[in-house]
Amino acid sequence: MKKGLVLGVYETENESNVVFTPTAAKYNELVNGKLLKNILLAGPKIPKGHARVFWGLDETDYSGVAVVSLGKQGLGINKLEEIHEGKESVRAAAAAGCRALDDVEIKDIKLETLGDAEAAAEGAGLATWLYQGYKNEEKKKKLPKISLYGEEGETEWRVGIIKAQAQNWARELADTPANLMTPTIFSQRVSEVLTNLGIDIQVREKSWAEQKKMGSFLSVARGSCEPPKFLEISYKGAENPSESPMTFVGKGVTFDAGGISLKPSSEMDEMRADMSGAACVAATIRAAAELKLKKNIIGLIPLTENLPSGHATKPGDLVRAMNGKTIIVDNTDAEGRLILADALCYAQEFNPRFILDIATLTGAMRVALSNSATGVFTNDGNLYETLRNAGTVTGDRVWRFPLWQHFTDEVTKKVKGADINNIAKCKGGGSCSAAAFLREFVAKDIPWMHLDIAGVMGPAHDELSYIPAGMTGRPTRTLIQFLQTL
Ligand SMILES: [Zn+2]
Repeated sequence: MKKGLVLGVYETENESNVVFTPTAAKYNELVNGKLLKNILLAGPKIPKGHARVFWGLDETDYSGVAVVSLGKQGLGINKLEEIHEGKESVRAAAAAGCRALDDVEIKDIKLETLGDAEAAAEGAGLATWLYQGYKNEEKKKKLPKISLYGEEGETEWRVGIIKAQAQNWARELADTPANLMTPTIFSQRVSEVLTNLGIDIQVREKSWAEQKKMGSFLSVARGSCEPPKFLEISYKGAENPSESPMTFVGKGVTFDAGGISLKPSSEMDEMRADMSGAACVAATIRAAAELKLKKNIIGLIPLTENLPSGHATKPGDLVRAMNGKTIIVDNTDAEGRLILADALCYAQEFNPRFILDIATLTGAMRVALSNSATGVFTNDGNLYETLRNAGTVTGDRVWRFPLWQHFTDEVTKKVKGADINNIAKCKGGGSCSAAAFLREFVAKDIPWMHLDIAGVMGPAHDELSYIPAGMTGRPTRTLIQFLQTL
């Protein structure tokens, strides 16, 4: 197999000047200045995020060497953009380098740290993986193998690879067709992977949910022939095993047709990824175990399909959640909040340090933010700041929305004959009233964050240079970073 190497250069004021990273400078010496000579012949300016491939520099080790531009040296946090531009340009450069070599059939790629081994591993790890599922083996694209060049940055590289692989796993779970990712199959897949890491996982059946009086969750499952499941994942990494856990709740609707409030058929296939929140939770806990984080983490994942049938919940039906609150279901396509309501009630039995729920909840979030960021609703400003900083570091950002009484009134005050309605009657603000609905199922004194990822779930169309087309697995790395910094 042909081997390739990715090295970095920085942009300078003087465009005819070449400034190597320290590793690239060393390599240039190793090949007696041939790298510099070639770059000067080629331009020499390489635009930020672009790569040039040079051949025949050293016959023994690498057939091709991709030189990528990292932009200006010493880039840091851009406060207005809320992004670490240095890290982000390393991710983009690593991806560009891998792509350039992959394009010329070099499949064994080594990368230098590019000044930030963790970011380089993230960019390369995400860019070189693609969901190919059940394509004929012969037609599958051969994915490149990546590894670190040089002795420096091994620990950081490994952390970056763990994060990228976790996100790639979330991408895979989300992109798999819904008939091959039912609640049962999701439970099996996630159990296999997490059990191998020594994580305790319970797969609860419908009868358990009935005992728990999860009438809201079960009302969504009624329309489907696939049995619902409820996953309870428990990772105990804290030195004190009885330390209060951080509790993550992920929406696991493995296919959402909307129920009787049927969705339009165009692009309905994308609703195979309506379990992206569940995938993020599973992937985050996987990474926490691989990184041996000293935290206790609980993951709760209600899993069901949302389909129309003779048994399905009808608009206007009344259901009762685990905490006894009655809900009028005026729109059966607002099912995510119904399954989360019971999961949030159950989460409180663990005496959690905080609860974070994550869900592809509202199309309105995509209207508000497009695919730029995850929307966050919270009753705890400190938790939000930690999450926001995590998003700045990972480049996968979050943005806060209001959790005001205004929206609570919209889903409670105007409702006759029940405590709450699953949709607001007012126009607009659909993401905010969804959050207000969830708030009814969390005790006031519990720190809580709700993440709406309907905008960022994908499918991506190559907007982010280091995430190829398909479901994105976002914001898995931000959640991992958040856990690392808590
Ligand atoms: Zn829905």
